[in-house]
Amino acid sequence: MKRDKGRLIDAYGREIRSLRFSLTSRCTLNCIYCHHEGEGREKKDKKEISAELVIAIARVASAHFGIRKIKITGGEPLMRTDLAEIVRGMRAFEDDISVTTNGVFLSKYAADLADAGLDRANVSLDSLKEERYDSITRAKNNLPRVIEGIYSAIDAGLTPIKLNMVLLKGINDDEIGDMMRFVRECNKRGDGGAVILQPIELIPTFNPPMAQYKADFGKIEDELKSKASKIKTRRLQRRKKYFVDGVEVEVVHPIDNTEFCANCSRLRITSDGQLKACLLRDDNLVPVESADEEHIINQLKLAMKYREPFFR
Ligand code: SAM
Repeated sequence: MKRDKGRLIDAYGREIRSLRFSLTSRCTLNCIYCHHEGEGREKKDKKEISAELVIAIARVASAHFGIRKIKITGGEPLMRTDLAEIVRGMRAFEDDISVTTNGVFLSKYAADLADAGLDRANVSLDSLKEERYDSITRAKNNLPRVIEGIYSAIDAGLTPIKLNMVLLKGINDDEIGDMMRFVRECNKRGDGGAVILQPIELIPTFNPPMAQYKADFGKIEDELKSKASKIKTRRLQRRKKYFVDGVEVEVVHPIDNTEFCANCSRLRITSDGQLKACLLRDDNLVPVESADEEHIINQLKLAMKYREPFFR
């Protein structure tokens, strides 16, 4: 493959630094707030992007545009039986490969995925209370498996593991303390700092009635601030990290939507193989129809023309 030192930068000066692949729209759970990565609900007849195409897009983005950071998501990405093959196929030209999973199948696959070259796992965990967990995920009896999955991921070295907790007012926003205790316990198992708690602000765009459950992040951050021994701000997304009694809490809460968009440095690829310039729009998708290098380069450049901040 020929290489050049191009970069993918849109008309607003935003450079693409990571690819976020959705590998399937299928999921084992059915979370009440899910944005489905902006793809809509599972469509049974939808053809899923092939492993070959995923690897080809990643390879071209790395070789031609210096993008060496990959996030794999879904649907539930661990439902793809070729996930380890995909990770293995892109390992040689990536710096950082992580997966976002609901954790239900993680205990089964963590060691294989680590062996294939996966660096890290983010695990969604909105509650440690079984009844609550079941009603948020609209499924039954999965919480013990998810917790086992987190332990397996620690043991396999898929660290740091971020626990994604979408905070929902009146539903789980009283559980941050319990989650921090759980993280502390997990870290005794791993080499300290193996697990990070990541409270996430709800994006209600795809399900407007959920807006009433948006938690009060101002209050939550004030509390973390008062307890933290150290506070850091991540440069790129300006996310705050609080260190409280040995537990790292990274808050995913854009100060406002404009800032959320201004800092966007990711390009999405849908589960049926289309480049998606924005989580919140699907009227400007760019299909990738073959693994041909020139075709992928052209489609990546075309997707850049469609990129504009949703909020500005
Ligand atoms: N099934 C996997 C999982 O549960 O992590 C991957 C797909 S899920 C769509 C990816 C992430 O998006 C999860 O961490 C989830 O919590 C987050 N998410 C989904 N809907 C959201 C929403 N409306 N607002 C904020 N985050 C959301």
